[in-house]
Amino acid sequence: MQQEILQLEIDILNHAPCGLHALDGDGKFIYINQTELDWLGYEAHELVGVKGLYDLLTEESKNRFHQLFETFKREGKVSGISFDIINREGKIFPIQINSNANYDEAGNFISSLTYVVNLTEHTEKERSLKQKTKTLDAIFAIGQTILEERSLDSILQKVTDATTELTGAQFGAFFYNSVNEEGEIYQLFTLSGAPRAAFEKFGMPRNTAVFEHTFMGRGIVRVDDITKDPRYGKNAPHFGMPKGHLPVVSYLAVPVVAKSGTVIGGLFFGHPEPGVFTSEAEKMVEAIAWQAAIAIENAKLFEALKEANKKKDDFISIASHELKTPLTSISLYIQLLERTFKEMAGPGKAFQYLHKTKAFIKKLRSLIEDLLDVSRIQAGKLELRKEDFDLNPFIKETLEDIQNTNKSHTILIRGSTSCSVSADKFRIEQVMVNLVGNSIKYSPLAREILVEIKEENNFAIVAVTDYGIGINENEKSKIFDRYHREVNENRFSGLGLGLFISKVIIEMHEGKLWFTSSLGKGSSFYFSLPCINLKK
Ligand code: ADP
Repeated sequence: MQQEILQLEIDILNHAPCGLHALDGDGKFIYINQTELDWLGYEAHELVGVKGLYDLLTEESKNRFHQLFETFKREGKVSGISFDIINREGKIFPIQINSNANYDEAGNFISSLTYVVNLTEHTEKERSLKQKTKTLDAIFAIGQTILEERSLDSILQKVTDATTELTGAQFGAFFYNSVNEEGEIYQLFTLSGAPRAAFEKFGMPRNTAVFEHTFMGRGIVRVDDITKDPRYGKNAPHFGMPKGHLPVVSYLAVPVVAKSGTVIGGLFFGHPEPGVFTSEAEKMVEAIAWQAAIAIENAKLFEALKEANKKKDDFISIASHELKTPLTSISLYIQLLERTFKEMAGPGKAFQYLHKTKAFIKKLRSLIEDLLDVSRIQAGKLELRKEDFDLNPFIKETLEDIQNTNKSHTILIRGSTSCSVSADKFRIEQVMVNLVGNSIKYSPLAREILVEIKEENNFAIVAVTDYGIGINENEKSKIFDRYHREVNENRFSGLGLGLFISKVIIEMHEGKLWFTSSLGKGSSFYFSLPCINLKK
């Protein structure tokens, strides 16, 4: 019975989930359990009485062992000490030990009893967790940068660089799915880790057994050694990698597929060593490829929009130039007609009609001028011819001219400024004509427009107030936009350009243009211009 209990105890010790061993005063094994022997790959008789723990440690751990063992023998206890140990196959793994010492009656050290934790599993878990966090961070970071990016080239370069680095590939490339006369072919677009010349000369036929999978968007290909893959070396003319190709053993290829299912291209990675690409790397590239597809589609839409906008701007510029030429001739002939009628003395109604025609021509000219101004602004070619002048008389004269051609409303002028400005008279007049013109246009039931001139903090301020329809609350933020017109207002003609142009003009003078408005009551538009050499 006694014997059986003892055997049971030995069995328990031998198969405990942790390692157990005892060392003598020289550090040699007196006992070692089966669990620890299994980790180390030795038989008990190869270690007990033959080797010490010291013999199995790495150089770095050996350096620490002696001092720790001596201290332990004196103090009788150590806990949580880590060493790196080498097993029979030469594999290094980390252990953590907790030891208690046994002493004889005279207090001499006899042996240690140590229980050992194998940290490999723990470290493996920690490493994998760290790797996962790193991967997620990387996916998030690259996703963020590429989604903010508008240029296709930079998106592809950033994706290629990041994925090449994160997968540990020696080189990575994005091949764009483009079509040529001979059919579809993947063309090299971006490359990381190798010069462009290393790839460019080979082209990339899509129908080889290796590439087809990716090119058709069927899924990811990850192979530890592509040269041993059954699909490898099947196609003419090269039957494998062409001469001079970068050496690829580890191979990873991930298709980049748009939401519509179209294969935009593929990300390809290579390494001259086998087994480099892990399943984690594969998942990461898959996630990035998915984001890249969205970013690429956005960039394409953005480029198409830019292109369409440019075409529209070009069209407006050309159309307004084309419209202006016949208009100039019409103006000229009207003038001639007018003179002829005058000479004929008293042409009656014809004169009136001519007058009206002239007014329409003026309106047409101003519309065309607005369109041309927008083109100039878009091209950065709106120029100012600045001169120094007193603002007060200038505003008054401008208002008199406007009043002469507008009889529906009385323009009242209040206040004054002694401020001189350095400005383009033609352009400031254009702003005044636009603001007062709008005030008249958008207050069809009112009879008055009020213009106030004042001076504040070295700025001259001109305010144009009407008592008209006012501006809808949700339109307020948009009225300075190019081509913007209030959605529900078809009663009034216009192109929605006047305020846009006026704002640009005033800001080019370092002033500001703003407004206040109350729906159904009216609006006030203000502009400011910086004063120069104030006269007091
Ligand atoms: P438009 O040629 O349409 O008048 P603007 O750029 O001068 O173009 O004005 C843009 C829009 O702002 C107008 O369509 C109108 O809806 C609104 N708006 C401008 N001035 C006034 C005003 N004084 N009162 C009410 N609405 C105005």
